[in-house]
Amino acid sequence: MRRVLVAALGVTLAVGLAPARMRPKEQEKPPARPAAAAPPAGRFVVVLDPGHGGSNTGAAGVVLGLYEKRLTLALARAVARRLEAAEGVEVRLTRRDDRYLTLRERVRRANQEDADVFVSIHANASPSRGQRGYETYVLTPEALDVDARALRRGDGPARPGVDPEVAELLDDVERGTAQPWAVRLAERVQARLRVARGEAGDRGVRQGTMDVLMGPTMPAVLVEVGFIDHSVEGAELLRRDVRDGIADALAAAVLDYRELRARDPR
Ligand SMILES: [Zn+2]
Repeated sequence: MRRVLVAALGVTLAVGLAPARMRPKEQEKPPARPAAAAPPAGRFVVVLDPGHGGSNTGAAGVVLGLYEKRLTLALARAVARRLEAAEGVEVRLTRRDDRYLTLRERVRRANQEDADVFVSIHANASPSRGQRGYETYVLTPEALDVDARALRRGDGPARPGVDPEVAELLDDVERGTAQPWAVRLAERVQARLRVARGEAGDRGVRQGTMDVLMGPTMPAVLVEVGFIDHSVEGAELLRRDVRDGIADALAAAVLDYRELRARDPR
C-alpha cells in the first residue's frame, strides 16, 4: 500500500516539497534538511525521550524505590549534556522532570521540533529477573504500514501552505524514507554499547511495534540500555561510571549517525 502511494506521489512530491519547505521559521534560517543530495546544514536537532515519568514509573529496579523513569531521565540528561557540547547539535528532551507524558505528547514534541532523530531511552525488565543486556528497537515494516496519522492529527498545520491531505501523504512518505536510517542509527547505538557494556550483552537491533515509534516522521529508535531488575546488571546501572559509559555511547552513536547521514544524505 505504501509503496504504491510513494510511486503515485512521485509527481506530487516534486511539486509539493517546495511549499512544504517554505515554513515561516525556515525562511529566517537555513533549513535543517535542505534539498536531497545536499549535505545537512549545521543545525542537527536531536529529541531525547526519557521513557515513562510521573505515575508511569516503568520497570522496578533491584533497589527499593528505583524505577525505570528515574534512570531514563538521568541518562537522557547525561546524553543531552554530551550532545550539546558538539558543534551544531541542538537537543530537546520530551521531559526534563518527573512528569507523566502521553505517547502522543512525546511524538508531537519530536514532529514539532522538526527533529533529525528521535531516541527514546528505556531500561528493561524480565519476568524471571534473569535476563541482561541491551537492545535497540526500530519499527516493524508492518507497523510502518499501520495508519499512524491519528497520532499526529490535531497537532496543527506542520506544513503551512500545503493542502492538509497532501501534507499527511508527505508525512507518510517521510516516515517510509526514515526507516532505513532508523536501522542505521540503531546499529550505531548497538555498536557503541558493545564497547561500553561488552559484547556478551548485545541483544541486537530488533523490530517492535512500540507506539512511540509509530508517530515520528524522522528516524526513530528505542533503546533498552539494560535490565534494571537483574541482580548484577540492575546494580551496575545504579553506578555513575556505568551510566556515564552508556551516556557516552548513546551520544557517540548519534554523532556517528550524523556523520553517516552527511556523507550519504539520500
Ligand atoms: Zn520502558
